[in-house]
Amino acid sequence: SPHIVLFIISCLMSIISKSSSPWTSSLPHELLTLDTANRLRVDTTSIELASRDFGKIVQENPLAVLHPSSVNDIITLVKLSYNSHVPFGISARGRGHSLRGQAMAKNGVVVEMTCLTSYSEGSGIRVFRNPNKLGLSYADVGGGQLWIDALVATLEYGLAPVSWTDYLYLTIGGTLSNAGVSGQSFRYGPQISNVHEMDVVTGKGELVTCSNYTNPDLFYAVLGGLGQFGIITRARIALDKAPNRVKWVRMLYHDFSSFTRDQEHLISIHGLDYVEGSLIMHQSPPNNWRSSFFSLSDQSKINSLVSKHGLIYYLEVVKYYDDLNINNVDEELRVLIKGLNFLHGCIFTKDESFIDFLNRVRNGERELQAQGLLDVPHPWLNLFVPKSGIMDFNAGVFIDIIHKQNKTTGPVLVYPLNKNKWDDRMSAVTPDEETFYSIGLLLSSGDDDWEVLEDQNKEIMNFCDKAGIKAKQYLPHYRTKEGWMSHFGSKWDMFQKRKAMFDPKMILSPGQRIFNSVL
Ligand code: FAD
Repeated sequence: SPHIVLFIISCLMSIISKSSSPWTSSLPHELLTLDTANRLRVDTTSIELASRDFGKIVQENPLAVLHPSSVNDIITLVKLSYNSHVPFGISARGRGHSLRGQAMAKNGVVVEMTCLTSYSEGSGIRVFRNPNKLGLSYADVGGGQLWIDALVATLEYGLAPVSWTDYLYLTIGGTLSNAGVSGQSFRYGPQISNVHEMDVVTGKGELVTCSNYTNPDLFYAVLGGLGQFGIITRARIALDKAPNRVKWVRMLYHDFSSFTRDQEHLISIHGLDYVEGSLIMHQSPPNNWRSSFFSLSDQSKINSLVSKHGLIYYLEVVKYYDDLNINNVDEELRVLIKGLNFLHGCIFTKDESFIDFLNRVRNGERELQAQGLLDVPHPWLNLFVPKSGIMDFNAGVFIDIIHKQNKTTGPVLVYPLNKNKWDDRMSAVTPDEETFYSIGLLLSSGDDDWEVLEDQNKEIMNFCDKAGIKAKQYLPHYRTKEGWMSHFGSKWDMFQKRKAMFDPKMILSPGQRIFNSVL
């Protein structure tokens, strides 16, 4: 009978485990007797993969890795930990594109969410098109699905999600645990503002459907909740009519105050679909892995400007279009950018398909990979800087630290967002000002010198403290409880209460080191 077979397997495993198996340490033996045991991997390859991430700074081995074949496998695993005398940590892992071990589970179990692919397994992608009002359409998408796959599936219906990240090979569950920001966020809010409903396996192993109307506490806890309250197995994502193509424009500035004034103007008016911006310095060519945009002749023009000014900025905007406005999109765009103060003649335009624009980072990623430059440490620093501090940030960080010290390798992003597009009930944390800037120092280094850039990151944070700039980390990481308390500020009490409610044994996402940072 199956029970006898399981018993024999269990005995064999316990003999093997005398020397090396994880079950000798903290994983309970009951786990082996469950059906789910077939999907648990303890081989070196699976363990190594789950012990790494994109950041390549932290490495922590789990004891086992679950390749779930259904949502039930996840429920079983979490319940078992919850009911154990000694609960073990469990981390959902999307694509592992975290930077500092956030999706790891030292001596626990990592759940590879991308294994769940089909709708019958409780994952997959299902599109609901509302023919009367396309803006009321939505897609039910598995937590382990990639955004690129959600895009491809929804485009088949002439629809697309409205809020994006710059890079699409991230999972739904991974970005919803943070926020998901890009050039569309000023208009639609971050990705967490564009979710109607979710299915979540809580830290008690209960599968709960939540929304603004049903279990709202859990719903808002999970959005931007750093994986602390539950494992997202399905999210209902808002969709709208997809355009066919985009007009994509970059304008160069030398004067930072004109640059930010124009950015802030553009996010306050209606008409553009995307607004971002970036630094161009000696050491960062105008084209980088995030997108190749400038032609060769544009590049030489830009290089001479950089030689002259040292540091310049480009403002980047996009207007979507399709057959309906194909004849007037250029005129619409001209009106929208009229009166902007970019350097004379320094405006560059591109016409691109919608999907190629959204997927613009992919080619650069492939190129880096081919050159062996992708699998390197990434000591990124992502911040939300309040508008009131952005001029000081430019002087103290962009000019004095980044440009003058000349250590930064990688793109540096800077673009404004509107706080009124973020719901304060969500766990995500932003500065306390109506307009704040998303700053991304997307740094990479050699295997041995990432600490130099980490020191630079510390210097930047110290500068902000001294200058009284109340910046908040995005994709946050702290080593102490005090760090987390100050990060969450007035939201800390609520965050703690929600943890006690939905994951009282502190099982989920130990890699974030929020509730285990002091142990
Ligand atoms: P992981 O790194 O695997 O997980 C991140 C966290 O979420 C972990 O704590 C994990 O336990 C938890 N988690 C994962 N899946 C689930 C789930 N289903 N349920 C609950 N918790 C879960 N961010 C932006 O906002 N905008 C960008 O433009 C952007 N661009 C990026 C480009 C690159 C090249 C990279 C590497 C990152 C980028 N990011 C961006 C950051 C990215 O959003 C986060 O790193 C995100 O966490 C990565 O998603 P992931 O699927 O790899 O999640």
